[in-house]
Amino acid sequence: MATKKVGSAGRFGARYGQKIRKKIAAIEKKQKGWHKCPYCAKFKVKRVATGIWECRGCNSKFTGKAYEV
Ligand SMILES: [Zn+2]
Repeated sequence: MATKKVGSAGRFGARYGQKIRKKIAAIEKKQKGWHKCPYCAKFKVKRVATGIWECRGCNSKFTGKAYEV
């Protein structure tokens, strides 16, 4: 469950400690949002899998880092 405090990391409940969950929330916010495409420069890139990104602007699929392009 997503919470106000820790966002998508709320699914971990009260486990793992506040600090680590806040860190996870920050990372997941980054990975779930739109990213800038290195080819067409549009913010149309979504992560399809770990390290694999797809651009809806120019339809290119490319590899990147696990959590960001
Ligand atoms: Zn593109």
